[in-house]
Amino acid sequence: MRIKDEYSILKEHVKEKGLRITPQREVVLDAFLGTERHVDVESLYILVKKRDASISFATVYRTLKLLCECELAKELKFEGKITRYEHKYNHKHHDHLVCAQCGKIVEFHNDKIEEIQDKVARENNFKVLNHHLEINGICSSCRN
Ligand SMILES: [Zn+2]
Ligand SMILES: [Zn+2]
Ligand SMILES: [Zn+2]
Repeated sequence: MRIKDEYSILKEHVKEKGLRITPQREVVLDAFLGTERHVDVESLYILVKKRDASISFATVYRTLKLLCECELAKELKFEGKITRYEHKYNHKHHDHLVCAQCGKIVEFHNDKIEEIQDKVARENNFKVLNHHLEINGICSSCRN
């Protein structure tokens, strides 16, 4: 279900870039907001196709880039290679555990880890812009 706010944010951003919000871009936004998190371009494309078969892969890809630019989406590279997108707007910072076998992704937030990371940055005279902590391993169902 589309939330008005997110639609307005995309509309504003697209306008600033001198582009128009097309029905196709709207469909991509709807599909993105309606799906679980951590979706890659291919799986979002399949979801978009179900709603409107005329929308091209390139449109899905470019719209995702627009969503990232206006911070509705966040791009993540899992295991250093698989690019996935997750909701960013109104979502709290979190880190990830990724199963190397089934690809399952677990989100977590740990204040202590966050504090230690900030401390390490301070000690190295770094101003943190962002960080992405990913722990790779094997989940409990894959170990059984
Ligand atoms: Zn973190
Ligand atoms: Zn697994
Ligand atoms: Zn996440």
